[in-house]
Amino acid sequence: ALTAGIVGLPNVGKSTLFNAITQAGAEAANYPFATIDPNVGMVEVPDERLNKLTELVKPKKTVPTTFEFTDIAGIVKGASKGEGLGNQFLSHIRQVDAICQVVRCFVDENITHVSGKVDPIDDIEIINLELILADLETVNKRYQRVEKLARQKDKDALVEFDVLSKIKTGLEEEKPVRALEFTEEQQKIVKGLHLLTSKPMLYVANVGEDEVANPDDNPNVQKVKDYAANEGAEVIIICARIEEEISELDQDEKEMFLEELGITESGLDKLIKASYNLLGLATYFTAGEQEVRAWTFRKGIKAPQAAGIIHTDFERGFIRAETVSYDDLLEAGSMTHAREKGKVRLEGKEYIVQDGDVIHFRFNV
Ligand code: GDP
Repeated sequence: ALTAGIVGLPNVGKSTLFNAITQAGAEAANYPFATIDPNVGMVEVPDERLNKLTELVKPKKTVPTTFEFTDIAGIVKGASKGEGLGNQFLSHIRQVDAICQVVRCFVDENITHVSGKVDPIDDIEIINLELILADLETVNKRYQRVEKLARQKDKDALVEFDVLSKIKTGLEEEKPVRALEFTEEQQKIVKGLHLLTSKPMLYVANVGEDEVANPDDNPNVQKVKDYAANEGAEVIIICARIEEEISELDQDEKEMFLEELGITESGLDKLIKASYNLLGLATYFTAGEQEVRAWTFRKGIKAPQAAGIIHTDFERGFIRAETVSYDDLLEAGSMTHAREKGKVRLEGKEYIVQDGDVIHFRFNV
């Protein structure tokens, strides 16, 4: 499964947020094969459509899809030089698919800040610089090797050399690889380099308890937003302490509490959705009397692969996918009506699954 890593300097609220994630955690009974790793927190992906489908189909059971966050502790200045838990930290980041960087925006004199003052841009730059330096080391090694081959006019080496030169120049100007532009051919090479700064990044602005309703009044939030906009990155505003409290509530209590706070959606729910999108993930549904269920897929995959997410047999024996879009199904009011109105399509092997598709797979065993 794809995972987003939570990073940040010490004392910015990472553990508090991660606690909220594990406490809000997905119901283990629904996911018996999930791996158990204390640094991984599995949450259910909030999706209003699943509730609506449940009302419509009235199944015995409803199962949301899940998303995983990984807690990555231990970044310090000098991590790329192996200081502190530096190397370990970087190797953990290498294993995640996206990065959620928690940035301290709350001011609280009782909680020390590693640099002595709360300055979100300074903090962001410390972390981003460590990642850039680590990538620069990777790229420089490769650069020297490929340069030799390129001089011998090796065709592949010449193409790669161009890419490496571009990345090297970018990194030296302190630009993350994700901010550079590449052709499709070049992108494949970039992917193969597994660089830290090529992973998509999301900034998580952690604000004080009394600021969640009007976070823009906090000047630190504005600074983070400006910085992120410049990079084309998204900012999610949360109050980690409040998320921790919310994670202990049941659904009804949660809604009441959010209303009291003057917000419509919890910060964690926003973070889950944003991470999901950042990774190019989407959801399709299966809807039977036994179970209505959401499934995560990577945008762009075809029907047999989507079937394979449920079971490898479904992919191997794939015949067709009876598909209706969520909107069409809801409008028709029932599967029978949707069928009568001709809204249920019979899709074959080449069909590219869409977000919100409600699918019944037909397969040979
Ligand atoms: P970490 O080192 O980044 O994992 O930070 P922690 O989650 O341990 O938080 C450090 C301290 O900041 C703890 O005392 C938290 O209770 C506090 N803290 C975290 N989030 C908030 C917040 O939103 N508001 C306030 N006032 N304190 C917070």
